Amino acid sequence: MDVASLTVEQVRAGLLARRFRAAEVTAEALRFAEAENGKTNAYLRFSPERALASAKRVDDAIARGEEPGALAGVPVAVKDVILTEGLTTTCGSRLLEHYVPPYDATAIQRLEQAGGIIIGKTNCDEFAMGSSNENSAFGPVRNPVAPDRVPGGSSGGSAAAVAQGTAVVALGSDTGGSIRQPASFCGVVGVTPTYGRVSRYGLTAFASSLDHIGPFGKSVRDAATVLRVIAGRDAADSTSADAPVPDYTAALDGQVKGRKLGLPREYLKDLTSESGDLIARGVDVLKKLGCVVRDISLPSTDYAVATYYIICTAEASSNLARFDGVRYTFRSGNSDTLADMYRNTRGSGFGAECKRRIMLGTYVLSAGYYDAYYLKAQKVRALIARDFARAFEQVDAVIAPVSPFPAFRLGEKVDDPLAMYLSDIYTITGSLAGIPCMSVPCGRTAAGLPVGMQILTRHFDETTMFRLADAFEKAGGSA
Ligand code: GLN
Repeated sequence: MDVASLTVEQVRAGLLARRFRAAEVTAEALRFAEAENGKTNAYLRFSPERALASAKRVDDAIARGEEPGALAGVPVAVKDVILTEGLTTTCGSRLLEHYVPPYDATAIQRLEQAGGIIIGKTNCDEFAMGSSNENSAFGPVRNPVAPDRVPGGSSGGSAAAVAQGTAVVALGSDTGGSIRQPASFCGVVGVTPTYGRVSRYGLTAFASSLDHIGPFGKSVRDAATVLRVIAGRDAADSTSADAPVPDYTAALDGQVKGRKLGLPREYLKDLTSESGDLIARGVDVLKKLGCVVRDISLPSTDYAVATYYIICTAEASSNLARFDGVRYTFRSGNSDTLADMYRNTRGSGFGAECKRRIMLGTYVLSAGYYDAYYLKAQKVRALIARDFARAFEQVDAVIAPVSPFPAFRLGEKVDDPLAMYLSDIYTITGSLAGIPCMSVPCGRTAAGLPVGMQILTRHFDETTMFRLADAFEKAGGSA
């Protein structure tokens, strides 16, 4: 059995035809993932006991003639910011190195109820802050396509796992691009659903008004299958939406003729030529499929990076206040007073990027600066959302790059936080607007580096996004 090439449907079909058992797929996936991990550092830990127990449940259900679920027997990798009961969840931070959560995130419960097999937890930037996975306290992840390059971040481990084929699908989290950008860098599909589509219960909060859980897959269909499983209202997250969850895979019918697509002129001006050429070629593929393409404008784009880095740092400074040495595992010793204990714990526990954001966020929220920065940023966020709302009066989807450049070298930007922040320009707009957006592979540069194309649609219209991406993939646009 070649786990590296299996799709969700193939696993299911193999189980139902009794060609193999879930226990065999799981054992083989674990063996392969552990053997490959030295090349990428994609996984922080494996969960063989939990995985084999889940596999047994699936095999028993099949033996009893029961429906085993949409993800029956499918090996899943999970970003280490998503809580798993009894399984250490570090968020890529020293502070949580030994933290064992007492409950499962809702997305995890739903995955397992659908027969999914969690084989391990994946490396990520500390508390999901970063664009290269170099901010992890447990070492960077290497891009499986080009080991001297970053896999993107912050969900770099999940993207690398799927690209390596050590997991069939994976979960990541996206606050400003952390699913789409690593998907683009590693050449896999990555989906950020509408804000509220998937419950955030059990997702460690970075910036609560921007955080999403979403899937990675080798194909659009696999990613769509996972989203359907994890989506939907959850009483434990008051921001999760009550909207009905459509059968996404049933909509993958290739019918995209006449769909109106907008190309934002503000997005195409700063691209490196190779990425720009690949996006242009991707747009041609969509035109050949019968889509109608027009120029559009998203005029507030220039303010997006500044807006995002004010809002996300403000929310992060508040969310990270809970890691104080009292509530969660790590506590620095040798402190004479309570204030010293806080200072020493946070001083030695957090890495440089988290500290930078806590300071920035505290600053923009402080008296005297709140109106000038935080309040202003919220107003600009509304303008960015309005840009998209206006665009969607004319078009069904927006087509855009994911990143200004393909995967960069390890160490290349790590000392220049501003350059790192600027690389998020194309992904943070969709996050600020809360609309569904995804990266679908659209070819490789001459050096063999993958490039992703971004598709963005109206709130809760993941169906149109998946339909376009799937038609594009089937027409060879991903090759
Ligand atoms: N790169 C962005 C940041 O550093 C996005 C991170 C994310 O989406 N979690 O904030």
